[in-house]
Amino acid sequence: MPAGPGAYRRAETLLRRGELVALPTETVYGLAALASDDSAVAEIYQAKGRPSHNPLIVHILTPEKAKDLADVSPLAQSLMDRFWPGALTLVLPKKLSIDLSSVGSAGLETIAIRCPVAPWVEGFRSLGFDGPLVMPSANLSGHISPTTAQHVFEDLGDRIKLIIDGGPCAGGVESTVISIDGDRASLLRPGAIAAEALAPFISNLSFADEKSSPIAPGMLESHYAPRARVRLNAIHKAEGEAFLGFGVSHIKADINLSETESLEEAANRLYACLRSLDSLGKAVIAIAPIPMTGLGVAINDRLKRAAAPK
Ligand code: AMP
Ligand code: MG
Repeated sequence: MPAGPGAYRRAETLLRRGELVALPTETVYGLAALASDDSAVAEIYQAKGRPSHNPLIVHILTPEKAKDLADVSPLAQSLMDRFWPGALTLVLPKKLSIDLSSVGSAGLETIAIRCPVAPWVEGFRSLGFDGPLVMPSANLSGHISPTTAQHVFEDLGDRIKLIIDGGPCAGGVESTVISIDGDRASLLRPGAIAAEALAPFISNLSFADEKSSPIAPGMLESHYAPRARVRLNAIHKAEGEAFLGFGVSHIKADINLSETESLEEAANRLYACLRSLDSLGKAVIAIAPIPMTGLGVAINDRLKRAAAPK
C-alpha cells in the first residue's frame, strides 16, 4: 500500500491488534510489531526464521521516550541530541519496570533503542499512537536486507498483511549500533553513521571483539547472504561469475555500485545490486574491493557476512 494517511491508519490498526507490518525507514525496510505484545514479537521471529538469541531493536517515535525505557547517561544523551532521529542505535541498561515484552531481548539486561526517520512516525503520532515498535529488517533471516517494498514482498509477501511502500530507502545499510556504559562506548555494528562522524562526540570509542563478545549476539553468523557464493576483493572476473564493480576499472562489471567511487551511492545500492546479481543465477558473485573509510566500513562488514560460510 502506498505511504500516506490511509496506510498509516491501517498500519496502526493492525499493529495495535498484534499483527506485523512492514515499514520503510531511512536505513532499510523494517518488519514492525508492538514491542509490548509478547505474541506479536514472537511472530516476528517466526516470520523471519530469526534465531531467538538475536535481540531486536526497539524503535521509539519520540527521542524523549528513551529515558522511560533505559538509563540514559550524559554520553548517551549527547549522542541522542546529535543523531536522533537517525540511524544510530544505542544499547543501554534497561529499566526494570518497563512495559515491553522480554521475548525480543534474548535474556539481556540491556535494551537497543533507536528513533527512526520516516513519514509514518509523524503519521502514527498524529493518530495518538507512539509504539514503541520492535523492528528488525523485513527479510528472511540471513538473507539480503530489503531497500524497496518489492524486496519485502519477495521475502515475506505470503506472511504479512501490509507492506507500506515509501519508495527506495535513502540510506541503504542498517543503523550503527553502539553500546554505552556510563562514559564508555563500544561499537557493536558499523552502519549508516560512520565512525568518523561519531568521533567528535566520543573520546574513546572501542571496537567490540566479535569473536569473544557476548554483548553483541546474533552478529556472528552468515548474514545478508545471496543464494550465490560471494568472493570478495576480486581483481578479476572468472568464467561463470557475476561481477559487482566499484569505480572505473578494466573489468566489465555486470553491475557497478558506484562509477564515481561514492561510498554513499554504493551503500544505497548495495542490497538491491546483490539481489539483482543473485537473480542472474550464477554460482558466484565476485565483488571489487571497497575502501575501508567512512561508509565503506559498514559496506565491508555486510559483504564479509554475505561471504561467510552458510
Ligand atoms: P537487525 O537484525 O538489523 O535488527 O539487528 C539488530 C542488531 O542489534 C543485532 O545485531 C543485535 O545483536 C543488536 N542488538 C539488539 N539488542 C541488543 C542488545 N540488547 N545488546 C547488544 N546488541 C543488541
Ligand atoms: Mg537484518
